[in-house]
Amino acid sequence: MRQNPVLQQIQNNMAPGAYTAHGFLGDDQRNLIDILKNDEQIVAKLGVTHEQIASKMRELTLMGIKTPDVPVIVQGKYEVLVDDHRGFIPCPFADNVSEIKRNTRVRNLDSNDSVYWSDLNIHMIEQHGFYEGIGSSFRNDPTTLFQVLGMSINNNLKK
Ligand SMILES: [Zn+2]
Repeated sequence: MRQNPVLQQIQNNMAPGAYTAHGFLGDDQRNLIDILKNDEQIVAKLGVTHEQIASKMRELTLMGIKTPDVPVIVQGKYEVLVDDHRGFIPCPFADNVSEIKRNTRVRNLDSNDSVYWSDLNIHMIEQHGFYEGIGSSFRNDPTTLFQVLGMSINNNLKK
């Protein structure tokens, strides 16, 4: 799909060597607009919102921050490991937001599946509905997040 110049500029910001060495798109050849629309459809089918996914991610990161570099068991369901930060990274959507370079790994104790994200991932999912391109090392597939974080449609509707 064709995209407007603003989105094209943002896509350029996501290329390797622009904002970060490896960029945000992996080997995904799609235009940013198509990446965003596809993940939007996946999230809608799951019955949640970007904000709800980001909120759960932030909740777990905040639980892990208390013990940097030391894994902590949260709610008897997750093992959370947050590494210490090393500077800041700007959001490629050029909204003057910078996030601490801090990474969180969460392992679901039931399934043993893990997910891994940066603070910038939380921001980009929450504010831009962006989960990174396929093949990017920080790509977070919405379905994988949904499953590993143990989210359910019913729980979210109750909130
Ligand atoms: Zn942003």
